[in-house]
Amino acid sequence: MRITGTHFNYYQICHRKLWLFANGIQMEHSNDAVSDGRLLHESTYNERPDKYREIEIDGIKIDYFDPQRNVIHEVKRSDKMEAAHWWQVKFYIYKLINAGIEGVSGLIEYPKLRKTEKVTLEHEDLYKIKEMENGIRQVINQVDAPSRLTKKSICKKCAYYDFCYSAEGGRD
Ligand code: SF4
Repeated sequence: MRITGTHFNYYQICHRKLWLFANGIQMEHSNDAVSDGRLLHESTYNERPDKYREIEIDGIKIDYFDPQRNVIHEVKRSDKMEAAHWWQVKFYIYKLINAGIEGVSGLIEYPKLRKTEKVTLEHEDLYKIKEMENGIRQVINQVDAPSRLTKKSICKKCAYYDFCYSAEGGRD
């Protein structure tokens, strides 16, 4: 299986979520981090899409890329999962650099917070990305889904909430 930015994002948040997503159980809705970014971008930056390109490279899709400045734009609603957002964008930068695109950086935009974070790929990140790729593969290749998180506040925003806390899906 090709590893994508969504896998990197979910790996930071919840291994069960990563496993469910990677094993074809998809329940994305408008509250979830990934679909939320696109909706938020479209509603917040109506005038901007012309300037950006959607690009697909080596199995990953980046919704908003500025080809003039080589900047990836990722829009998020809240900064509560900042580490997940960072590693998602760092992984995108890594893939673009591997594809021969130079000087790539990222901007994570939180329009509701009026906040923007610049993301760059540092040398030491390369080792972490490799480690995470291995960790992601280990999680998604497990036979059974990992346990639910103990921190239920994260679960309440998750697309899999109903699945995880229903009678059928709720077993750890
Ligand atoms: S609801 Fe909680 S335990 Fe279930 S996948 Fe989402 S974050 Fe993980």
